Amino acid sequence: MKNVRELLSSRTGPKAMSFDGNTGGPSTEDILTALAFVPDGLGRELLEALWWPESGQRRREQLRQAVIALVAPEFTRQMHTLADARTDYGIAKASMGWGGAQITDAQRRQLRRTEEALEGARAVTWPNNTMEQLGVLAGAVIAEMAGASECARCGGRKVVLDAAIAGVVRCADCGGSGFEPLSGRKRANAIGADCSAYSRFWRPVYEWMLYHFRESESRAASRLSRALSKAA
Ligand SMILES: [Zn+2]
Repeated sequence: MKNVRELLSSRTGPKAMSFDGNTGGPSTEDILTALAFVPDGLGRELLEALWWPESGQRRREQLRQAVIALVAPEFTRQMHTLADARTDYGIAKASMGWGGAQITDAQRRQLRRTEEALEGARAVTWPNNTMEQLGVLAGAVIAEMAGASECARCGGRKVVLDAAIAGVVRCADCGGSGFEPLSGRKRANAIGADCSAYSRFWRPVYEWMLYHFRESESRAASRLSRALSKAA
């Protein structure tokens, strides 16, 4: 079967809606019926936003909610982890020689340990204003997905042959996504940040969103594909 994304986009455009050309394969109606079997959620919203823009336009609110449902819990989790690490560090600091007592080696070790944990948590926590920027980030990520071309090295297969182990390994060029990644400069541009701000602050959240958006969209595309082959 033809790629379901191509089918969706070729059968739902204004032309396909006005007449059903006899081009073989599933009709527009078949595709819309199959689409009803794809569960609601981010994947389906992305599938439509990317491959059926007319419907995506009408479903902007659903897409917005699905993006928030994905990103907000992760952001909150990170903030809690950071707050816990800060609390632990504060406690360790306050406990050093509490009430004028002698500082012990155990207390010094605890201070060092909690300080490292706090630095570690800071390093992996997304920027404070991630939620404020969510619309801009989501728009840029979706635009990257829409314009993405296959990775030149692995040809979209996500893996490459490694002669050394006589097997396949994850393609390093695309990080196993199968797509050519946009440069940091282009991504920075798309989110209205400068290059260094992108690589220092925004890259982790951008890449996390891109990865999860692609996973969701890909699952939805498989569901659509399965629903179509059942109907055929
Ligand atoms: Zn690749």
